[in-house]
Amino acid sequence: MRKPLIAANWKMYKTPKESLAFLSEFLPLVKDHTASEIAIFPTMSSLGYVIEATKGTNVTAGAQTMHWLNEGPYTGQTSPTMLESIDCTRVLLGHSERRIYAHETDDMVNLKLKAALDHELIPVVCVGETLDKRQSGLTEAVLRWQIACALNGIKGASCGSVVIAYEPVWAIGTGSVATPEQANEAHAIIRREVATHLGLPCASGMRILYGGSVKPDNVASLMSQPEIDGALVGGASLQARSFAEIIHNSTAA
Ligand code: PEP
Repeated sequence: MRKPLIAANWKMYKTPKESLAFLSEFLPLVKDHTASEIAIFPTMSSLGYVIEATKGTNVTAGAQTMHWLNEGPYTGQTSPTMLESIDCTRVLLGHSERRIYAHETDDMVNLKLKAALDHELIPVVCVGETLDKRQSGLTEAVLRWQIACALNGIKGASCGSVVIAYEPVWAIGTGSVATPEQANEAHAIIRREVATHLGLPCASGMRILYGGSVKPDNVASLMSQPEIDGALVGGASLQARSFAEIIHNSTAA
């Protein structure tokens, strides 16, 4: 059984004060929810506050990115050891906005994934095709390539915590959600590729989340698909009520 994970990607939104205000409203709304894991990925400036405020609750927090090295002359970066030092347990890797705006490459995602596993941070590795690639019939090729690169040199034995997020670039922040069937098909491609690299037991146990314009009214149909094990939610996670509704609706299928 793969326990669903519903995660919020806050991107570059919310000051620490706003993050804490969100939590005061949100935590009571989900306190009895046990059917899925809940995670929040706030900005780096809010991360420590969110980690402290969620201690002892059913919500955990993680970073939206990190460097793969522990320290060095890399202005603006945060290292795995720095995340560990504030009790951070999760990290998003290779989000398409990082790939587009920070020029993060597949090789960098691979280095970061290895560093996350070395530091026992639970990684969520994001993959997904652009509209252009989908329209050219290259969705499968892109997904297989991104997964193969991310997993290069990773051993099946260490894959237990890895989470993949399928986030078609054309669905992120656009309101154009993938159909449940499109998403399910993409997840099946990803799972097959994971099995090729890490073996079937690892692939069968790995959670694959869907991300891209998930809302309270479409999450149930996405989650009804057998290959979809949760959601990574951007815009609709910024309001406490909307994110809580997504969490509750996600188990309604
Ligand atoms: C995201 O940023 O990971 C995302 C899925 O955004 P949105 O839900 O706004 O499409």
